Amino acid sequence: MTSNSICPCSSGKHYADCCQAYHQFIIFPQTAEQLMRSRYGAYALHLVDYLWETTHPTKRNLYDKAAMEQCAKANHWTGLEIVYADKKVVEFKAHYQKGLTQFVHHERSTFKKEDGRWYYFSGDYFN
Ligand SMILES: [Zn+2]
Repeated sequence: MTSNSICPCSSGKHYADCCQAYHQFIIFPQTAEQLMRSRYGAYALHLVDYLWETTHPTKRNLYDKAAMEQCAKANHWTGLEIVYADKKVVEFKAHYQKGLTQFVHHERSTFKKEDGRWYYFSGDYFN
């Protein structure tokens, strides 16, 4: 991934104009949707520290960093569709491929903002 590559979050923008500065912790996403997109991009780029840091601190006990990394690396992330987004809720379809099989992870996530930073808080899965 270079700055001139198209961002893996499916925004259609260059990585440098989209999620790169979030992934480098230079700036923080301003909306729940931006955070969601940047987290999808982090899966695609195997940026496990970013996933961890953007998971709400009270929810990190539900996750295992090694498992997150394994999930990120085991799949090929082929695109993100935002189905619905408001201030705190984002419904999305994350497309990925494992071997030759295509999968869709359909989730409605809730985000929380604290001290100017958005965090992934919880999610309901459709599949
Ligand atoms: Zn992006």
